[in-house]
Amino acid sequence: MNAYSVVNYHITNHCNYQCAYCFGKFDGQENPSLDKAKMIIDNTASYFKINRIQHGRINFAGGEPMLYPKLDELIRYTYSLGISVSIVTNGSLLTPERIRSWNGLVSCIGISIDSLCENTNIQIGRCCRGSVKTMEDWLAIATAIHECGIALKINTVVSKLNIQENLLPLYHAIAPNKIKLLQMHLIKGINDWAKPYKITKQEFDDFCERHSSAFSIIVAEPCGSMENSYLMINPVGNVQLNNNGIYECYGNCCDTPLCEIMKSVPIDADKFNSRYVREVKP
Ligand code: SF4
Repeated sequence: MNAYSVVNYHITNHCNYQCAYCFGKFDGQENPSLDKAKMIIDNTASYFKINRIQHGRINFAGGEPMLYPKLDELIRYTYSLGISVSIVTNGSLLTPERIRSWNGLVSCIGISIDSLCENTNIQIGRCCRGSVKTMEDWLAIATAIHECGIALKINTVVSKLNIQENLLPLYHAIAPNKIKLLQMHLIKGINDWAKPYKITKQEFDDFCERHSSAFSIIVAEPCGSMENSYLMINPVGNVQLNNNGIYECYGNCCDTPLCEIMKSVPIDADKFNSRYVREVKP
């Protein structure tokens, strides 16, 4: 992990969706204050600097990161430190105006879209008070993202709930720079209740095959591919890794340098590189 590194900062536990399989939950944790969040970003910046990581990126995630009230301030702060900024969002609060306000500051916006079908989205829980994003909404958002020169990434979690879906019309219409298909996976103690929505590797491969035939920018992440390669900081600063299906904590970067914590984090360098190195220019 030399020239390039990504730290996923899950800035908030709050979300306005209730996805049946959600693995972005950090129960009982309140939002960090702006000062605390900046401290965590400073610590990450030092880690990048000490390790001579030229292309360091902080990816703001959640919960739903756009529910963190000071997100825009944090984006500006992170960018001012020379760190590349990306966001992964459910897209419910994205508007063309908000996207334009990030012009020049944010390098990539990742949007989680599992379905174009209203009923499927409601079944999954990808809705807020029954309101579901439509193809027209996604087109307007994608257009604004492209106009700002921001890379657009789509994450689709494949589960029993959307396994029959054909997302090619969406992918063609919004022309993302990258599409990630993730096989729904279980994290012990986080989303155990999602077992009924599990699919087999064969079902996942078939879904990927159906979509990949028209798209070379698709990356498939079967169960296990995130293990030991997805480094995250949770809302209160705990450094966590999905270590063999369990979120394990290795220290808190509010009171310990991230460099120190990283010495005990069992990152799988090969997996990490295959996840991220090709994203230097998303
Ligand atoms: S949008 Fe993301 S964080 Fe929110 S419930 Fe769904 S998976 Fe969880």
